[in-house]
Amino acid sequence: MKHSSANDLQDLQYFGEYGGVNPSISDSSTYTFLSAKTMFDTFEGNTEGCYLYTRHSSPSNLYLGEAMAALEGTESANVYASGMGAITAVIMQLCNAGDHIVSSRTIYGGSYAFLKNFLKKFNIPVGFVDITDINAVEATITSKTKMIYCESVSNPLLEVADIEALSALAKKYNIPLVVDNTFAPLSIKPAALGATIVIHSLTKFINGTSDCVAGAVCGTKDFCLSLKDVNDGAGMLLGSTLDSMRAASILKNMRTLHLRIQKHSANALFLAQKFEADGFQVGYPGLTSHKGNAIMKRQINAAYGYGGLMTMDVGSLDRANAFMELMQTEKLGYLAVSLGFYKTLFSAPGTSTSSEISVEEQMEMGLSNGLIRFSIGLDSDIERTYTMMRSCMERLGIEGKKQVLV
Ligand SMILES: *Cc1c(COP(=O)(O)O)cnc(C)c1O
Repeated sequence: MKHSSANDLQDLQYFGEYGGVNPSISDSSTYTFLSAKTMFDTFEGNTEGCYLYTRHSSPSNLYLGEAMAALEGTESANVYASGMGAITAVIMQLCNAGDHIVSSRTIYGGSYAFLKNFLKKFNIPVGFVDITDINAVEATITSKTKMIYCESVSNPLLEVADIEALSALAKKYNIPLVVDNTFAPLSIKPAALGATIVIHSLTKFINGTSDCVAGAVCGTKDFCLSLKDVNDGAGMLLGSTLDSMRAASILKNMRTLHLRIQKHSANALFLAQKFEADGFQVGYPGLTSHKGNAIMKRQINAAYGYGGLMTMDVGSLDRANAFMELMQTEKLGYLAVSLGFYKTLFSAPGTSTSSEISVEEQMEMGLSNGLIRFSIGLDSDIERTYTMMRSCMERLGIEGKKQVLV
């Protein structure tokens, strides 16, 4: 499998309005036309190269879109005011009332709630499946299915989707494979593996500073333009437009993404290996004990590793809560949802980001309430972090089951 590196992103070069090394920020909601005829043509859909109104597009948003397309190796990309803004626009663009969707059952809580609850308003039923079971995915496809939806690495259980196998299936039934790649930027390039549309919550690793929400849709030029269509584009009409100021700041943060991902991955791998050796129940796709390890290994660009997310099951919600509170007191990170920050973030998904999923469904998918999700930070001395985390665990009597070697 050929992987393009970060080079595409590296090769983007800008000359701002006054020759600046950063593009100028477009600080306007509306744009002038030199002729009335051009304005008419623009509304007729010939919007190429023209700025009309910022909900449609703006120079700053196009620059960020260009960087996202370079990152994911797609023809084009649009940016949105949030990851959910990107996800909902794609779904509403691809599906009409009466259509059907096949989705992974282990996805971000907001995406799950939208698919399971909100789409009822539009009579769009969703078949939720174990995405790692290709036969089950195929069995769920009906003549009405308009898309297969999954996350490259799932939230919060870090299940790894076999994107090549899923894309072969999608091609067989002539439907798009839509992959949310928020957990694995640079490590996995879903489009190179056959995905039709790649979505990101830029809020997480890509921006990396936990100071805004934003999203992106990467795909063909035609699909990205269709989302912007003034008459029936879901992006244009649902209106989750990213502010140009934010687009500019996210673009600047993206330039260190390759360095950050390498550090997040190296730190997470270090901790995962240590805690597993200590006998704790750790989930990390870089561990051979992880169910998705072989698929991940085949799909990733090794230079960027297995990502910054790790889970640990400490047995009960009370213990998880006590551990997280103590880690926060010891300045090891924040008891907070989200991911991709320079400090480690931890939360108990069962009672937070996945609380949209019923307790019974959580049990079924293996989401126990002692599970802590960690987004490992950019700690400069990860050995010290490990020692400090172990000391928190000792103070709370959280012990691992030492492996007995025979
Ligand atoms: C956070 C997240 C989203 C939603 O993104 P927002 O920017 O919060 O709207 C979607 N998918 C995944 C995997 C996420 O982690």
